[in-house]
Amino acid sequence: MERIFNFSAGPAVLPLEVLQTAKNEIINWHGCGISVMEMSHRGKEFTSIIQETETDLRELVNIPGNYKILFLTGGATSQFSMVPMNLLRGKKSADYINTGIWSKKAIKEAQKYCEVNIAASSEDSDFTYAPTQDQWTLNKNSAYVHYTPNETIGGVEFNWIPNMEYSNGNIPLVADMSSNILSRQLDITKYGLIYAGAQKNIGVAGLTIVIVREDLLGKTILNTPSVFNYKIHADNFSMYNTPPTYTIYIAGLIFKWLKKKGGLAEIEKINSMKAALLYNLIDATEFYICPVKKSDRSRMNVSFRLKNVNLDKKFLEQAKNRGLVQLKGHRAVGGMRASLYNAMPIEGVRSLIAFMKEFANNHA
Ligand SMILES: *Cc1c(COP(=O)(O)O)cnc(C)c1O
Repeated sequence: MERIFNFSAGPAVLPLEVLQTAKNEIINWHGCGISVMEMSHRGKEFTSIIQETETDLRELVNIPGNYKILFLTGGATSQFSMVPMNLLRGKKSADYINTGIWSKKAIKEAQKYCEVNIAASSEDSDFTYAPTQDQWTLNKNSAYVHYTPNETIGGVEFNWIPNMEYSNGNIPLVADMSSNILSRQLDITKYGLIYAGAQKNIGVAGLTIVIVREDLLGKTILNTPSVFNYKIHADNFSMYNTPPTYTIYIAGLIFKWLKKKGGLAEIEKINSMKAALLYNLIDATEFYICPVKKSDRSRMNVSFRLKNVNLDKKFLEQAKNRGLVQLKGHRAVGGMRASLYNAMPIEGVRSLIAFMKEFANNHA
């Protein structure tokens, strides 16, 4: 059977090896006679799956013992409200960095619970860069600082980690890493909390991973529903209610695949190489344009346009005929977007580049 190259921003491409393992194990997992989908989440088989998944993630990211890993549902979108509910800790305001559509959504939800101080924004330039920290106006009384290290729609990535020393470690840094988690090495100790939906770089839709420093837990705002309380999930090892068992299993297979590839240091090199190949082509022609500032270009979501927008439709059609799909940009920004997550093989990028060169030559 033929596989094509899927550049979707999410749900996104999965490694073929992982799909094959899942296929082989779908009816009878490790000889136990049933599928992972049919297992009790409290039984010994699934307990071993979730524990191994957590151990592998801890190893991949080098997560110290004072950080809890939570396997939740609700998508990254649920975290837009869970973060303020759990992390305001009696304070009245929080700092947010506004760098795109996902930041804006996080801000809108947080405004229901607290005063949001927009410490920096790139909206004035259509979200085409990541404001450097010297441009931020941080509030010393804020409960936390929230930012989006990779804006999936605009294709803007922070290639540096904000420095929180000004707060003497009292203000935690919070990050929505939905679209770049596990794409590069990560020093988790710089963060109080990170969260990510699984359908981009972790696995399949339905799972949301939260990694949180444990001293931040247990101070929710009044009337926080139990299911939105991080501490309750942490105390119950993500079994307060039924976790998304099958998607946790797939995430576990992905973590093993990543370990086999050499971990985050290795995948980071490959990801940088893949992105550089594509940006180099875009910059080498007048035919394609990338609106994002060079230093802040996303390695995961390459946003670009055709100079002649009348060719957009033809570009997408011909790409599809070559087995290169889901290249259309988000409806909010138009143009094209090629998502190059961990599971996108370098052959996919080379194939896209070959097509783009040919298309440009044929329409010059
Ligand atoms: C995809 C995405 C989301 C939304 O995720 P859902 O799972 O649909 O809630 C939020 N933030 C970022 C950065 C994303 O890429």
